[in-house]
Amino acid sequence: MNKNKIRVTVWNEFRHEKTNATVKGIYPSGMHETIAARLRNEPDMAVSTATLDEPEHGLTKKVLEQTDVLIWWGHMAHGEVKDETVDMVQARILEGMGLIVLHSGHYSKIFRRMMGTTCLLRWREAHEKEKLWVTDPTHPIAQGIGPCIELPHEEMYGEHFDVPTPDDLVFVSWFEGGDVFRSGCCYKRGLGRIFYFRPGHEVYPTYHNPEIQKVIVNAVRWASFQGNDTVKPYYGKMTEPLEKISARGYTAEQIKHPGV
Ligand code: ZN
Repeated sequence: MNKNKIRVTVWNEFRHEKTNATVKGIYPSGMHETIAARLRNEPDMAVSTATLDEPEHGLTKKVLEQTDVLIWWGHMAHGEVKDETVDMVQARILEGMGLIVLHSGHYSKIFRRMMGTTCLLRWREAHEKEKLWVTDPTHPIAQGIGPCIELPHEEMYGEHFDVPTPDDLVFVSWFEGGDVFRSGCCYKRGLGRIFYFRPGHEVYPTYHNPEIQKVIVNAVRWASFQGNDTVKPYYGKMTEPLEKISARGYTAEQIKHPGV
């Protein structure tokens, strides 16, 4: 594997596809494989997948260490994700791993952990039209996307969405039934970047949509940014000052050990 490639792990709960014939018809190998197949067309990405029912949910320490960007889709089994896995994913994000949370992943343990809020919202299943309007056309995640993406049928998510105010808001959704929603939200946590992207209810072919796929491709590149070693901050005691401190009336020894 080329170490210069962006190493992407697409994680999926992978339960609806096994139990619901409609979902299985749309995503015969699971939606993680549909998303991964599109990303594998990108020469700068090395893509693998992981699912809930694999040992350690497919997210071992080694897998996480070798992941630059983690994509997360979950819904019916958020509670089954082990807290130890959430701890490890959080630690990797703070170290610089990117996280892309899709659709019902808004209520995943890892997204709620990283946001620190309830991440609750309003929802409705009514086969309604969704338009995702680009609110930040210069943002890297919106490149190659027109003024809006139209999806003929989706589940509705509506405001208020209980998340922190995003650092960048890339999309706002309008729904046929009258609701609006912040659909593309960017955050920084530690050295890591997080993107929440709303669409992707399991009974619609949303992840086959070329524009939705393009947004995910763009988001992977955006979330993979980790700077370099020179931007990694040092935390802890500073034994020697950077400049000479002239604390008048104190000896050099007293300046070095003020409590003694
Ligand atoms: Zn849904």
